[in-house]
Amino acid sequence: AKDQGRNAFQFYTTDMNIAVERRLAIEREIRQALRFGQFVLYYQPFVDFSSGKIVGAEALLRWNHPERGLVSPGEFIPVAEESGLIVPLGRWVLKTACFQARAIQKALQRDFTVSVNISARQLSEPDFLQLLEACLRESGLAPSSLELEVTESTLMEDVSRVIPMLEQLRQKGCGLAIDDFGTGYSSLSYLKRLPINSLKVDRSFVQDLPDDEEDKAITSLVVAMAKSLHYKVIVEGVESPEQHAFLTTCGCHLGQGYFYSRPVPLDQFMRLVQADARM
Ligand code: C2E
Ligand code: CA
Ligand code: CA
Ligand code: CA
Repeated sequence: AKDQGRNAFQFYTTDMNIAVERRLAIEREIRQALRFGQFVLYYQPFVDFSSGKIVGAEALLRWNHPERGLVSPGEFIPVAEESGLIVPLGRWVLKTACFQARAIQKALQRDFTVSVNISARQLSEPDFLQLLEACLRESGLAPSSLELEVTESTLMEDVSRVIPMLEQLRQKGCGLAIDDFGTGYSSLSYLKRLPINSLKVDRSFVQDLPDDEEDKAITSLVVAMAKSLHYKVIVEGVESPEQHAFLTTCGCHLGQGYFYSRPVPLDQFMRLVQADARM
């Protein structure tokens, strides 16, 4: 039994070492990828329920890995967050998204909003506001054409620090959305005090619509509440015509999901949005 115990421990440490080494390897690779321009932004449209038109898009990070192909953020964002590399990576995302949004506006000759995911770590950087200002100034993008998405858990992490920061962002004229709404723990009374203007209902509420009676009730309620607080409501993960139909009757403002389009590279997105504008 004693031997077994020791063996088990050895396995454990070996596994730990592998995990640590793997993480260090990914960190090293992320640094290189930034240097060699291997990151790209994909865009997924927001569709207005009442007009059926594309009115904006969320910028979603992808890693064009020389050996592994296209890597999704789920595989490297957690490592980037833990190591702090999310700060330089997020800086690249914000800057690129502002320039590309401006390019989309110029091609379309009309207003267009881009949403960018911001992590807790980025928000707590002392120079985040300066970075934001620089990105807007250099790209020529109006603050009202930029929306920042912050998850519910990020908002709850360090409330006393985060709220004044968000207030400043709103004063600049940027949009601010709570992402993955409904998965965190924010109470409704707390929500009211947040300086946000949009709310993104998490995909988990949508996936079993319109068959699941409970999800139907919850979604209708969240949408009604958000609307009465004057938030713009975006629903994520719309995959079927039935879901689209149900959400339209709920009075949601914008939908996002595979039903409209998967996230696509910029050139493909440009064609999509131009075809949509001509219809
Ligand atoms: P998120 O912000 O909740 O983004 C929505 C995710 O849902 C995206 O996954 C998108 O591809 C996926 N999605 C959209 N429509 C559908 C649908 O109809 N069905 C299903 N099953 N999925 C759908 P993605 O691109 O893999 O991104 C995953 C997460 O990684 C994002 O979740 C976000 O938290 C994070 N992320 C992505 N880009 C960035 C970034 O630039 N910075 C930071 N900090 N995080 C990012
Ligand atoms: Ca998001
Ligand atoms: Ca989300
Ligand atoms: Ca989500």
